[in-house]
Amino acid sequence: MAKWKPKPSGNKRRAPAARQSQAPLLEALGAPPTPDEVPLMLAARESALDALGFELRPAELVAASQRASAKADAVRLNVLQSAKATPACSKGCSWCCSHKVGVTLPELLAIVEYLEASPARREAVGVKAAALSQNPAIFSDSEKPRARLACALLEADGSCGVYEVRPLPCRSWLSTDVESCKQHLDEKAEPKLILAAARSGRFIQLGLVKVMDDIQRFPYLVELTAALDIALNVPGAIEHWLAGAPVFERATAARR
Ligand code: SF4
Repeated sequence: MAKWKPKPSGNKRRAPAARQSQAPLLEALGAPPTPDEVPLMLAARESALDALGFELRPAELVAASQRASAKADAVRLNVLQSAKATPACSKGCSWCCSHKVGVTLPELLAIVEYLEASPARREAVGVKAAALSQNPAIFSDSEKPRARLACALLEADGSCGVYEVRPLPCRSWLSTDVESCKQHLDEKAEPKLILAAARSGRFIQLGLVKVMDDIQRFPYLVELTAALDIALNVPGAIEHWLAGAPVFERATAARR
């Protein structure tokens, strides 16, 4: 039984609007959920709320993120099987890792917890995130990729340093054509996305966004780099955020 109840619609604070694009696939990605997709979003919200205890604590928020990630992985597999689509994505291919990534706080906490297991890596990511956060382009959907500002979590070999706990957009952003991903960095082409997979991750993440509203913790979404800088470099950031302080306001992000 959920300890935190979904709030009825009509909240004063609304989820940020989807980014609009002239590119058909990206525009389709940003379209509102279809009647078939709404249950996915609501189930993700319910499942995440069920993971929370009576008091907000990092472990339960991480558990909420894990549930959402497991759901995203299962749905993605189904999509790939039913669409008979083969992603071109592989370890070391990281063209998409220069795009802006919006995450919810549960997703961020899962990454931070993962990094805590390796103090050296935590330190290195904290340094990278602090340096990158000096550049306002990290908040731009177009300037960040054009400047090739790669994610602070990207390893030197092009692999994701937190693959097991990577955010929902990273899990679901699958492409069938590497060249299109490369050209998309300069907006010369749109990526050949596997649309149903990308949309499933989007709506599962929207379920977590709704949980942020249910538990009244803001912002709904944060830009990954700036949020990592805060979480790793500001003492007590997560504890203060859990207590309701606006610690992550400067990392506020619109949805990817
Ligand atoms: S979290 Fe991992 S997959 Fe996502 S952008 Fe960063 S390095 Fe790439």
